[in-house]
Amino acid sequence: MKRVVVIGGGIAGLSAVWSLREHRSNEEFEVVLLERGERFGGNIRTERSEGFLIEGGPDCFLSEKPWAMELIKRLGLADKLLPTNDKNRKTFVLSGGKLHVLPEGVILMIPTRILPLATSSLISWPGKIRMAMELFIPKKKDSSDESLGEFVRRRLGKEALDKIAEPLVAGVHAGDPETMSVRASFPKFVQLEEDSGSLIKGMVRKMASMHKARKPAAGATGGQKPRITMFMTMRDGLSELIDTLTSRLSKMDRTSLRTGAAVSTIEKKDGRYLVTLEGGEKMDADALVVAAPAWAASNLLAGVDQGLSDKLRTIPYVSTATVSIAFRKKDIKHPLNGFGFVVPKVEKRRIMAATWTSVKFSHRAPDDSVLIRCFVGGSKNAELVDLDDAAMVKMVKEELRDIMGIEAEPVLTRVFRWRKSMPQYTIGHDERVKWIDERVASIPGLYLAGSAYHGIGISDSIRYGEVVAKKIIHQFEKG
Ligand SMILES: Cc1cc2nc3c(=O)[nH]c(=O)nc-3n(C[C@H](O)[C@H](O)[C@H](O)COP(=O)(O)OP(=O)(O)OC[C@H]3O[C@@H](n4cnc5c(N)ncnc54)[C@H](O)[C@@H]3O)c2cc1C
Repeated sequence: MKRVVVIGGGIAGLSAVWSLREHRSNEEFEVVLLERGERFGGNIRTERSEGFLIEGGPDCFLSEKPWAMELIKRLGLADKLLPTNDKNRKTFVLSGGKLHVLPEGVILMIPTRILPLATSSLISWPGKIRMAMELFIPKKKDSSDESLGEFVRRRLGKEALDKIAEPLVAGVHAGDPETMSVRASFPKFVQLEEDSGSLIKGMVRKMASMHKARKPAAGATGGQKPRITMFMTMRDGLSELIDTLTSRLSKMDRTSLRTGAAVSTIEKKDGRYLVTLEGGEKMDADALVVAAPAWAASNLLAGVDQGLSDKLRTIPYVSTATVSIAFRKKDIKHPLNGFGFVVPKVEKRRIMAATWTSVKFSHRAPDDSVLIRCFVGGSKNAELVDLDDAAMVKMVKEELRDIMGIEAEPVLTRVFRWRKSMPQYTIGHDERVKWIDERVASIPGLYLAGSAYHGIGISDSIRYGEVVAKKIIHQFEKG
């Protein structure tokens, strides 16, 4: 019987295994998933403590990318989807030491409404005029890649970059806009410029057509569907997705999921792969999916293809930490009328962003408490990830005292470190990944999956895992 070995039990590896089993029964091939850690889920990790629900890594996914939601629905978990509390859908930006509301209608960095931008206290008048001039700036002549920083400065001006794009991007990608590829990280913006000649024009048009599509047809009754917001999560935390996948898969015949199973080397012998685990155990495979981070894949694949291994190593990663910190509601004087705030680099602070978690989502904290989650590290302040828990919490308390005026002692703190966990799509990423894809396609039976290549978020990791599963089925069908 043929065997598929999947290395890495994050969402990418798990969705590849799930998709293999959704499409083909256990009579046709055996599947083994090997995870180095003591639990599945990789970056996805939910914990409960003292009535709080704490997400250590991701806390939501983008609904615009449908693959996470589709998988959740296929698993029968649609009623567990949890939208954001959109009556508070405001983001604040720290500027000059004060929190200013990000003007309504600014989508990532593109303004789509005049009045909120015109009345914003965040952007100066010259900055507002420069942003509005975007409508008249000719589009780029060639299709070469550029950094996100260059792109935003060229189209919307320096202030839009410093006060909006840079902090929003750091809050999501933990990256540096001066090295990040706009084409790989924000392909839709490049497309908007190419198609409409202006980001503002393109985004306004796009929103108008989305609005039209959302209007229910006259007479339509509409069932009880979950309310869909831009960011979605699961009521009991994102680990519920991982737990559901692992518990269903582990009940299937010829499907084995193992933790504490770190792969140390991979060799290719007589057209099959020989996988060796750290304890010395060996296993062969007809198809091999490496769903570990690119730097780990690089180490593992050195014995299969040195060129591929070298190229994988060129995808950089940054380290981050999240610090969840809870207070009694009565101790917080600062209004909690938004999803949280982001911190521009020019402010020279030690946190990148903070989510007011219990405002953004229901069911995250007891009624008398507030849960806040701060992001630390990234390309701005990598060394802070190495602080021990006590020093990290002290630092976060000082930052929240300066920014939000919180003097009270927290009732709960929890630190999660994510070392070399966030791939960076730097300039030339698309060409690098094209090279990697072509090289992998020339090595029969080898597949890569994960957030390093075709999209950094959960939804893209699921999609790519499913694509790999289909390729394996095709490989086996060909014989
Ligand atoms: C702090 C943080 C916040 C984030 N927030 C969001 C968010 O809100 N929304 C969103 O969509 N995305 C978010 N992301 C990104 C999201 O977490 C990733 O897109 C996704 O989890 C990547 O899944 P993966 O399976 O590719 O990788 P991982 O989750 O990294 O899984 C890879 C697995 O491979 C295993 N492994 C490595 N080497 C070996 C080996 N030699 N042998 C066996 N196993 C091995 C690792 O132990 C790990 O479990 C966030 C990421 C971080 C770090």
